[in-house]
Formats: sequence, C-alpha cells, structure tokens
Amino acid sequence: MLKEQPYWNPVLETLAKEKIRDLQFRKFRKIFEWGYEKSKFHRALYEKAGIKPEDIRSFEDLRRIPTVEKSMMRDIQRKDPFPYGDALCVPLDEVVEFRQTSGTTGQPVYQPDTWQDWEWWSECWSYILWAQGYRPSDRVFIPFGYNVFVAFWAGHYAAEKIGAEIVPGGVLDTQARILKIQELQCTAMMATPTYVLGMADTARKMGIDPSSLAVRKITCAGEPGASIPTTKKRMEDAWAAKVYDHAGATEIGAWCFECTAQSGGLHVNEAFFLVEIQDVETGEYIEEPGRRGKMIITALDRQAQPCIRFDSKDIIEWAGEPCPCGRTFRLIKGGVIGRADDITKVKGVLLSPSAIEEVVRGLDGLGNEFEVIVDKDGDIDRITLKVEIIKGREGERKQIEARLKDQLRLKTNLGYILEFHDHGSLPRYDVKARRFKDLRGK
Ligand SMILES: [Zn+2]
Repeated sequence: MLKEQPYWNPVLETLAKEKIRDLQFRKFRKIFEWGYEKSKFHRALYEKAGIKPEDIRSFEDLRRIPTVEKSMMRDIQRKDPFPYGDALCVPLDEVVEFRQTSGTTGQPVYQPDTWQDWEWWSECWSYILWAQGYRPSDRVFIPFGYNVFVAFWAGHYAAEKIGAEIVPGGVLDTQARILKIQELQCTAMMATPTYVLGMADTARKMGIDPSSLAVRKITCAGEPGASIPTTKKRMEDAWAAKVYDHAGATEIGAWCFECTAQSGGLHVNEAFFLVEIQDVETGEYIEEPGRRGKMIITALDRQAQPCIRFDSKDIIEWAGEPCPCGRTFRLIKGGVIGRADDITKVKGVLLSPSAIEEVVRGLDGLGNEFEVIVDKDGDIDRITLKVEIIKGREGERKQIEARLKDQLRLKTNLGYILEFHDHGSLPRYDVKARRFKDLRGK
C-alpha cells in the first residue's frame, strides 16, 4: 500500500549512483536539445560558444556549456514575445501559470509554466512532503497569502496530490490563523522560519501555548533557518514539532529537501535536477565532500522556460556520509549555506549572516530577532549587532553579553559593537527577513 512506503518514488529514490548519473545525463541531453531547438536565447548562447547538442557525450563536455545568470534572464524579458521574451520554448497559448521572482536582488524575473511544468512542480513537492512524513491522514495549514510568487503554491498542490487535506490560511491575519489551526486540529504547516517563530510569539500573547496545538510537522522554505541548528531547535521547541528544511527557487524549481532522518543535510532530488558545485575562485568543479562552492543547476524536465546550467549563486557543499533514510539522492551538508552575493568580506574576513544567526539563536536569554549593520568608521569596517533581551532576563545582561562576544569571536572571527534592545522593539518580518544591512560604499 502506498501509505506504508517510506519513499514517494521507491524506484528513483533508491536508484544506484551510476544509474542516477546515467538518467541525469540522458535527461540533460534532452533538455539541452530542447533549449537549443526552441529558444532563440539559448540557441544564440550556445552557438556563440560553438556547442551543439551532438557535442555533448560526457559530463566533461557538459561543463563546457555556458552558464546562465539571473541578469541575463532580466534582459531577455525586454524581447518578444511579451512578457517573457525569447527564452520561451512553447507557444504563449501553452503557458498556464505566471510567477515572478521576489526581486530582492533587482528587477523581478517572470517565470512562465505550462500545465506539464505545473504537474512537475507538484510532483517535485510530493517527494519533499512524503520524505518529511506527510501522509493522507494529515491536515495541512498554509499560513500564507498566495500571490504572484511561487511560494507554497506547489506545496499546496503536492499536499493534495499525496492525499492530505489542505486548509488555505491566505487572507487571515496571524491571530485568526492560529485560531483556525486550533479549531481544525491541523497537523502540519508550511512557512518561512521567521514566520514560524513570529506565530509562536503571537500565540503565546493570545494565551495559547503553540506546543499545545496539533501541529507536529513544519516545512520551511524561503530562508536558511531550518538548517541552522539553533534556529531549528527554537522552532521545534516552541511548537513541539519536527521542523524540516527545503530549498527551491522560482526560476529553478523545488530541488532539495530534508527527510525525517534529519541527518543535517538536504537531499538533492537527482531524478529531476542536476546539481554541480563550482569553486568560486578557481572555477574547478567539486565532487568531494567538505568543499564549498556555488551551485550550477539544471532542471532536467522543465519546458516552458528551461533552467539549463543556471548559476544560482547559492553556496553549498556535498555531505560525506549517506543518509540513514536509504535514499541514494546525494545530500548537501547544512542546506544552502549562503548566497555568493551575501557572503561579504568584513575586515578581510568572510562573513556569512547565517553564522551570526546561529550564535544569537543559540543563546539563552536572547529573543529571536536581531539586526546586523556593516558600515565604516573612517576607513575601517565596523559591524553592529542589535539583539533583544527576553523580558525578565535584563538583570543577566552582563553575562549574556560576555557569552555573546565569545561565541561570535569563535564562530565568525570578528569583533562587534553590541546593542541590547527591549524585547519586541526590533523590526518584525512576516515573510523573508532583511536582518543584514551592508551600508559600506553607499
Ligand atoms: Zn534522508
């Protein structure tokens, strides 16, 4: 019976490594030929590089294919056909879904999908939800307003596809969402880590202990929090639920997921995506575990606007050990570690905002919110970290400050100006948080 299966697709998820590689290669050739034949943009890019589909005979050949950057996708959209431009591989009549990127790093990119692509989205999400223990008996609450962004639309359809029951909590405010979860005894939900923590705070203010609700599984997306151990623990403790990470993007798809084994890594869905890791400085491709690089990704089945060797700027690394769950899909350790754009040099040291989050969320006595501001004092970089002291713990400020300083020094190798604020006074975010501000050179 399907219900008893630990895997959504028992064949593909346990395929031997060589067979997965073989499947990926055959699918890659197909999608490459598709882009070459159907999209003016891809055709021009590959002709300029002197590469034709028949030249791709091995993984080494594949790596000679030029990568595509987000800025190129923005330029494409000034061309015909309106509004997508010439990377479109199907007649406009076949497009059934419009989505766009959030535009936090510039002009949004439009993303067309055909009905087949949309089926593919929900199939990819079905792997995620099944691996995270969602079953037909679940009642899934989505505390999220659906709109032009892809967030949680595909999760919604996948929950239906696997046979779970969906409660769309779209236009409700946070209090009404909590009451609805309570009223219907919802067993699972999907949200950003920021919102999962914010909801717990709101529930407590309403006199409801979030752990008393029936939610036992939470799928996170949109921010790295669910793969940062201390943030994950705060969420799991607050809700008495298992919290699972997933990573995906509008222009790529839902490409990786954590499973119930919670082994500290995320499985790449290798039946649908080809992930390559490239050393940012040398351009070398990384196969071995433990070395970080940026992800170059191909969605092997997406047709309307293909994603072929997309330079995602996500920083990842392969994990060394296989996952105890038995899936042969490779794991990336600690999820998406950061963005190549976000990881900046401060005083000559590489600083990842996730490392600061890990320290702040790991300290007893500090609230969930924080803010990091990097600016200059004369010619010297300066980092200010604003944190909140939990009510009733103000008397321990000195001890907390000393622990915070030590931990920051240990984890990030940098010194900070620390500012302590009252609990509840730093900005709150509903969806994606903007806690890191680099004001240098502005
Ligand atoms: Zn696993």
